[in-house]
Amino acid sequence: MSTSQEILIKPDAAIVIDGVSKTYHSRSSHVTALKDISLSVKRGGFVAIVGPSGCGKTTLLRMMAGLEARSEGRISLNGEAVHGPSSKFGMVFQRPVLLEWRTIRRNVLLPVELKGKPTPADHKNIDRLLSLVGLSDFGERYPRELSGGMQQRAAICRALIDDPEVILLDEPFGALDAMTREHLNLEFNALWRSTGKTVVMITHDIPEAVFLAERVVVMSARPGRIVEIVNVPFGPLRDESVLADPVFGALAAHIRALLETEEAE
Ligand code: ADP
Ligand code: MG
Repeated sequence: MSTSQEILIKPDAAIVIDGVSKTYHSRSSHVTALKDISLSVKRGGFVAIVGPSGCGKTTLLRMMAGLEARSEGRISLNGEAVHGPSSKFGMVFQRPVLLEWRTIRRNVLLPVELKGKPTPADHKNIDRLLSLVGLSDFGERYPRELSGGMQQRAAICRALIDDPEVILLDEPFGALDAMTREHLNLEFNALWRSTGKTVVMITHDIPEAVFLAERVVVMSARPGRIVEIVNVPFGPLRDESVLADPVFGALAAHIRALLETEEAE
């Protein structure tokens, strides 16, 4: 039995990526961004992806969400092939991309409004989400009145409002200062535990990847391949004690060494 078949029959898998490659074609050139990626993400699991700039991380995330066509291979969610965009995926980007003329509440509500008139249940849901990320008092404020970290919290609420099965995050905390980032990491861990969502997060920050994820996928320089999948042996609850654990430091050092080899090539 081939490895890809073994991946396909995993019963607790939410996302299955099987032999996926991507080549971008233009009139004058062809760029192979990704080559033969196979990966499964279990339901409720948390996978982080790290890799050199330009190795195809964003491309992979966009293909998972059905926003980008594959050149080869298959991607499925709960056993169903991903073809085109779906509200089963909530996306968070490096910039919060909030609409400045809408209040925070109405920004979070946008995915619901695009489908129809929001119900009282939707409003209750917003209250719950805003409270989960400490923004209860800011629903009627405008984006410019909030700090970068608060805006990103609102973007996370917006990704969750339509109750997606999977949250895909592309360097969500990359534009924030170190303190805000650490704080959001703690909050995001709590959010993951309380919602039970399946999470895939791209990050440049190795400690962030080890702190948050159950598995860290390390990718090679372009064309991106999976170099190693590092298991993180801590339980779901992550707090300051994890940072002080020698295993945390050893895993981060191991991943850093893998990436340095890649970036040097
Ligand atoms: P990463 O997120 O890891 O930095 P990307 O997925 O953004 O990498 O890009 C991977 C490679 O594919 C890069 O070389 C990039 O220039 C190329 N690429 C990305 N998007 C396109 C596109 N729409 N058309 C052509 N090439 C692209
Ligand atoms: Mg990217």
